[in-house]
Amino acid sequence: MAFLECLVVARAAFLVWVGEMKLPLEDKLYSKLVRCRAEWRCEFCDEFVPEPDRQRLHCSHVLSRSRRATRWHPLNALSACASCHTHMGQNPLAHADLVKAKLGSEKYEILKHLGTKTIRLKKHHIKEIRANLRASWTDMEARRQAGETGRIEFEDPLPDSVA
Ligand SMILES: [Zn+2]
Repeated sequence: MAFLECLVVARAAFLVWVGEMKLPLEDKLYSKLVRCRAEWRCEFCDEFVPEPDRQRLHCSHVLSRSRRATRWHPLNALSACASCHTHMGQNPLAHADLVKAKLGSEKYEILKHLGTKTIRLKKHHIKEIRANLRASWTDMEARRQAGETGRIEFEDPLPDSVA
């Protein structure tokens, strides 16, 4: 990798690290679920990122985090190494094509549809989302510790009462 490219990747990784320190708990849990679901591998280049380097593996959102209806949806993020994440950020059309190929057209359409929804979240909703994500994480972590390999899915944490 060229020196300048290294700098760009290092800068991106640093910004993600700073960003993650400030992330709300629900986003931290979601990020861990997305990366652990993929067995701590980049879903674009298949690189495995072991402990203690896991900050180098990012939770790469498909639709912006500003869209609440999809912010914590299992279909809305892929695990990506810092280098692939930077590359995707700079090539949104290539990113969209890859995401479509990864999800398959059916799930891609579901995500697209969800992305058009506008929802209002109250404080108690956030609490519920947090609790649901925490339960998913406890379950996934236990299954990994028990030696389970392969992809482990998790549920959309959005409460049914959200309209
Ligand atoms: Zn990668």
